[in-house]
Amino acid sequence: MLLEGKVAIVTGGNRGIGGATSRVLAREGATVTVACRDAASGEAMAAAIRDGGGRAISVLADVSRRADVDRMVGVTLEAFGGIDILVNNAGVDVGKPLLETSEEDWDFILDVNLKGHWLCAVACVPYMVERGGGAIVNTSSVLALSSLPNSGVYSASKAGILGLTRSMAIEWGPLGIRINCVLPGSTDTDMMWVGLTPDEIPAERRRVDEATPLGRVADPEEIAEATVWFCSSKASFATGSFLWLDGGTTARSPNPR
Ligand code: NAP
Repeated sequence: MLLEGKVAIVTGGNRGIGGATSRVLAREGATVTVACRDAASGEAMAAAIRDGGGRAISVLADVSRRADVDRMVGVTLEAFGGIDILVNNAGVDVGKPLLETSEEDWDFILDVNLKGHWLCAVACVPYMVERGGGAIVNTSSVLALSSLPNSGVYSASKAGILGLTRSMAIEWGPLGIRINCVLPGSTDTDMMWVGLTPDEIPAERRRVDEATPLGRVADPEEIAEATVWFCSSKASFATGSFLWLDGGTTARSPNPR
């Protein structure tokens, strides 16, 4: 097992990519705090890990609120005595064009996607230092590098995560903390189908499959595996790194031939 004895917090660890990450971290021996806004699914994920022989708790935390983040850290320290790993995964989108985006929409997306990454990281770093180091994985998106209609603010937040990852890496490398970033492409979670009716999903899935060199969307576990690798000693010289997990989409030229 890659992460025996390590304590990890996963924001949005109840479902989607974060849920898969909670499961894979536990499978690799880590103790997991599942942090999210939905009590029932958070506790269901923690219970499933415990039923499988692992160690896990759930905690309610809105990553955009400092008080919630401090509680998430406090509950983890009380339960497990330290923190080695933070997976900043929680993210939202409202799926609107820029001209229809309200100031509230802007604040909501930036507060969760970008401020949330910063708040959670700065709350964990002192305790990682106490353990002699740690690992943080931030979650950006291929939409940090290009954009789609109705994704303007989301793209801006995900581009911001690239800058934040670099800044964290240079400031906290000397503390023994590695900070890396995954950039998923289309991944089969609730977020991927936001704004579509159930009837519209099959056609959209076909369209995305055809636009992806590997011919399909990602399974959440395929993103989780990369995150866990970044957290492990196998990635001991990786910091400030970005890993595209997009089935080749970004590599393809947009110019049709
Ligand atoms: P998802 O299925 O919609 O899950 C979103 C997760 O974020 C949920 O666990 C949710 O918890 C949590 N969350 C949202 N707001 C939160 C808040 N304020 N505080 C704490 N937790 C919060 O989405 P996903 O696809 O798994 O996305 C995970 C990450 O991957 C996001 O950062 C997303 O931007 C990124 N990503 C996804 C894709 C994709 O195609 N799916 C592609 C690129 C990047 P609750 O259930 O408690 O609300």
